[in-house]
Amino acid sequence: MRLLRSTDLALRTLMRLAVVDGADGAPTTREVAADMAVPYTHETKVVAELQKMGLLEARRGRGGGLALTEAGRRASVGALVRSFEGTGDVVDCESGTPCPLSPACRLRDALRRAQEAFYASLDPLTVEDMVASPTGPLLLGITTRPTA
Ligand code: SF4
Repeated sequence: MRLLRSTDLALRTLMRLAVVDGADGAPTTREVAADMAVPYTHETKVVAELQKMGLLEARRGRGGGLALTEAGRRASVGALVRSFEGTGDVVDCESGTPCPLSPACRLRDALRRAQEAFYASLDPLTVEDMVASPTGPLLLGITTRPTA
């Protein structure tokens, strides 16, 4: 199963912010994009979505930038992946020429169960869990702003 680019970018963004001490200087969207080696335009879309979800906040003005909210720090990786990926099946059985097995396909049921098991395995993990060693120290090394 392959995740959408935006799903991975959302997780990368939250992980990047999870190692920042907001009091020392929050990174801008442009800085996060540079740190995560992604195009600025993609980053802005993901940041807007995460802000709408209440997982990060954007502070304006001098010393402004992006900061993880408490909800963002505790966010479930599984819930986040579900939210960005949507609820669609991993196989599109109906578009174009509908598959003739569609009315009674055991494979589709099996794939749905596998998809749910994939999400369920990510449910207990939080953003904070994802920045434990060795990932957190690695992120500290590539960030451009003062860190916790
Ligand atoms: S074989 Fe089953 S899972 Fe595959 S396209 Fe057909 S209905 Fe869908």
